[in-house]
Amino acid sequence: MATVPKPEILAAFEAAKGFMPVDEGLALYAAAAEAGALGLPLLEVGTYCGRSTVLLADAARSAGVTALTVDHHRGSEEQQPGWEYHDPETVDPEVGLMDTLPAFRRTLFRAGLEDHVIALVGRSPQVASVWGTPLGFVFIDGGHTDEHAGADYEGWAPHVAEGGLLAIHDVFPEPADEFTGQAPYRVYLRALGSGAFTEVAVNGSLRVLRRTGAGI
Ligand code: SAH
Ligand code: MG
Repeated sequence: MATVPKPEILAAFEAAKGFMPVDEGLALYAAAAEAGALGLPLLEVGTYCGRSTVLLADAARSAGVTALTVDHHRGSEEQQPGWEYHDPETVDPEVGLMDTLPAFRRTLFRAGLEDHVIALVGRSPQVASVWGTPLGFVFIDGGHTDEHAGADYEGWAPHVAEGGLLAIHDVFPEPADEFTGQAPYRVYLRALGSGAFTEVAVNGSLRVLRRTGAGI
């Protein structure tokens, strides 16, 4: 049976601003909990206000590992002022740009999970370029352009340890279903086509793959 989060963790997740539906969150939690058994860190690309981070953090705490989450906190293209997914509350009035770091920190504090997460504030490819530790779990939920989603895959998928899991959000095989483009779907196809990953779970737009070989 899939591992489920405790009610207080689920409540903190549901209370947080963000873009992760509950059913997909539960699938993400189960995958992160399973991957935690490898004893390696769990990493997310795309923190936003910490909604999915709460789940990774609690799975990490249960497994005795650390969760890492990467974001420049300036928002994706579709979250900028004037775009469909913009939230005016995320704008820092002093600099006039989005800054989701304060909301993220409040989310983690309220969930009591600050001690289990390292926030990496920066551009995903730049963080990946200095990264060297094998990861038990990589969750790609960052930018939705081909440039960003492709760089997330290239930067982070090679760090997934043998037996570890790669989760990808917003995978929409049907063009009619997508809402911010099909770049995550193309990344998912690349992962399957590499021969290094095998699909283990599908839930809504969430795909979970296991690293079963070399080749990336
Ligand atoms: N996981 C979140 C949603 C993430 S939204 C949730 O559960 O709600 C996508 C996030 O990716 C945004 O916060 C944006 O700032 C970040 N992002 C987009 N491109 C990025 C890049 N190249 N490097 C770092 N962060 C990026
Ligand atoms: Mg997403």
